[in-house]
Amino acid sequence: MIAELGKGLALTFRHLFKKPITVQYPEERVPMVPGYRGLHKLMRYEDGPYAGMERCIGCKLCQAACPVDCIYIESEENTPDHRVSPGERYASIYEINELRCIYCGMCEEACPVDAIVLGEDYEFCNYDRESMLYAKERLLVPPPEGRPAEREPRGATVPIGGRRVPSGGGRG
Ligand code: SF4
Ligand code: SF4
Repeated sequence: MIAELGKGLALTFRHLFKKPITVQYPEERVPMVPGYRGLHKLMRYEDGPYAGMERCIGCKLCQAACPVDCIYIESEENTPDHRVSPGERYASIYEINELRCIYCGMCEEACPVDAIVLGEDYEFCNYDRESMLYAKERLLVPPPEGRPAEREPRGATVPIGGRRVPSGGGRG
């Protein structure tokens, strides 16, 4: 009994003078491990002929792939006056119920244009259910600096899943 107590105290004293490994959250934050799946982001093209435009072409493949049915999308046609994505369509409504989401990454896997990604943000807990319903406005990343969010694309083709298909893609 006394020996065990001595062992315990020795262990405590050994660590008493070591540098602490405690992270002083929220002043300090540890970087997330590669592959961490946090809050979703809807991406835009960062450079190239479509820079600033939304990647999402409203194809709803992510919605179909979601095993818990927590994505809701409505799509509309792009027009010359209102071109949001390089494809035929864009997502006019894109919502994710982050409370129901199981962060499996299937939506990310299913997306042919890398539009929906699970980011590194883990600080989005809340006190009411409504706040966990993320509409497009909250998911969409801002356009790169100096790039408009909406315009007529200059290229004749749209990159989809590593292939290049004619503008419109047939997937929107
Ligand atoms: S991470 Fe999984 S559960 Fe969450 S929205 Fe994507 S497919 Fe659905
Ligand atoms: S799969 Fe990608 S492009 Fe299609 S609706 Fe989902 S996020 Fe948009």
